[in-house]
Amino acid sequence: MDLGLKDRAAIVTAASKGLGRGTALALADAGCNLVLNARNADALAATADECRAFGVDVVELPADATDPSVPDALVTLAAKRFGRLDVAVANAGGPAPGRALDVTDDQILAAVESNLLASARLVRASIPRMTDGGFGRLVCIASSSVKQPISGLALSNTARTGLYAWCKTAATDLASDAATQAITLNLACPGLHDTDRIRQLYNDSDKPSHLGDAEDFGRVIAFLCSTSAAFITGQAVLIDGGATLGL
Ligand code: NAP
Repeated sequence: MDLGLKDRAAIVTAASKGLGRGTALALADAGCNLVLNARNADALAATADECRAFGVDVVELPADATDPSVPDALVTLAAKRFGRLDVAVANAGGPAPGRALDVTDDQILAAVESNLLASARLVRASIPRMTDGGFGRLVCIASSSVKQPISGLALSNTARTGLYAWCKTAATDLASDAATQAITLNLACPGLHDTDRIRQLYNDSDKPSHLGDAEDFGRVIAFLCSTSAAFITGQAVLIDGGATLGL
């Protein structure tokens, strides 16, 4: 299937491993040039090389995606290197586990910074360029917890439901204005996928047996970024192998 992404330009944050890497590979496979971000420069360079194997141009910006200056720097880099910005996928590391009654104010604020504000900033920073180009696909990687909170992950549950509410409202704002109607904004919500984070949260004996694949997850995001997905916006798309019971 032609996703209509060839020679377009995309930003993916937290892209060196796991779901971010899977997304970068899927967009590269679709012919999209990339600006990739993560903190560790060596791991980021390795993923960038894997993406270049698809014949696309890739530039790296090693940085902490939660730094408020990073979204603007990423958009500026895309404009300088590619002269356009069509796609932005906001991802970040997940917060530590914790019971709701145990987590501190500082931990809650840090989770909101990392898993709500950093994504909202990248969305905001990307919109002017996408408006100029008449096309935009914004996806925030969140969690199935936006549909059904996960016991013991109070920080993630709190920040990501806030992100969902913000994105839902922003998607409506974009869709109701003729100048920005061609820009969609969705959440991609993983259940359990086989990544470093899941290996850290579960030891081998209690690791669930039905795990998703990060590269398959990335291909769902690539579809949400495709030209065919023009009428999908404001959605929290579950990619969870049927694990979430909430309607
Ligand atoms: P992962 O395998 O641990 O990979 C995390 C990636 O994010 C790495 O590339 C890491 O590189 C980068 N990163 C972390 N913090 C960053 C920061 N502050 N700035 C820039 N890059 C950063 O994690 P994952 O499993 O792919 O999870 C990705 C997101 O999905 C997380 O928010 C996670 O909570 C959420 N999620 C995952 C699952 C799952 O099943 N895997 C389920 C639900 C939700 P550096 O460390 O070099 O920066």
